[in-house]
Amino acid sequence: MTNRIRYENVSKYYGDVCAVEDVSLTVREGEFLAVIGPSGAGKTTILRMLAGFEKPSGGEIFLGEREITQLPPHKRDTGMVFQDYALFPHMSVRENIAFGLKNEGLPKDEIEDRITEVLEMVDLPGFEDRKTTNLSGGQQQRVATARALAIEPDVLLMDEPLGALDKKLRDQLEVKVIRLQKELGITTMYVTHNQEEALKMADRVAVMNQGTIEQIDPPEKIYHEP
Ligand code: ADP
Ligand code: ADP
Repeated sequence: MTNRIRYENVSKYYGDVCAVEDVSLTVREGEFLAVIGPSGAGKTTILRMLAGFEKPSGGEIFLGEREITQLPPHKRDTGMVFQDYALFPHMSVRENIAFGLKNEGLPKDEIEDRITEVLEMVDLPGFEDRKTTNLSGGQQQRVATARALAIEPDVLLMDEPLGALDKKLRDQLEVKVIRLQKELGITTMYVTHNQEEALKMADRVAVMNQGTIEQIDPPEKIYHEP
């Protein structure tokens, strides 16, 4: 199996605060890795460094063979879904999804095709002209996922993507996310503080605590209570 993501001795300090300490980690092509652990463990920082929103204080990060530590976010082929979705409220669903695609310089009709395609993937066909503020929480979540997938990323990064939703909706979208991930075969890192969710969804689970990975194993081997 080839590795898609590799962290080598990666650390991140904010002043004196050590958010991530000497983490080495590989994620295989097509794998779904959940990252769990208590608040402040460094989970979000791990993802943000891969997406390019934070620079490591030390170490290197590879996507495939490429060392990406110095690349700006839009050059990394990572799609990220944020806990609060980070949709532009004054824009339509179409404009939200098109935003990153225009930055890539894609032609107009290709952008429109991609938007149609990703909205179908997340079961929101025909939602192009809707205002994001008029959508339910679950619909906003799916638009955020569609937007991340529209750039056809090598890697999907999800930071507590279902954390704001009620239990019933979360159960439904967990199933949906796994199905989509397997269909696309897209390498995924999924941050959650919900151990049950992680064990249900992931191929492997990384347990973080105080900036380090304490255990990384398939769900059936995770006994640790984070
Ligand atoms: P988690 O996602 O597991 O809750 P984070 O990665 O958000 O953990 O945070 C890890 C540690 O780094 C925490 O102590 C947090 O307060 C600190 N931290 C995160 N981002 C910043 C920042 N921008 N400035 C200062 N400290 C930060
Ligand atoms: P999470 O627990 O989901 O990581 P947080 O509430 O810890 O979310 O952090 C939300 C945002 O605030 C993140 O972008 C993080 O980098 C930033 N942040 C976290 N802790 C600090 C801090 N001590 N100082 C400045 N920014 C922080």
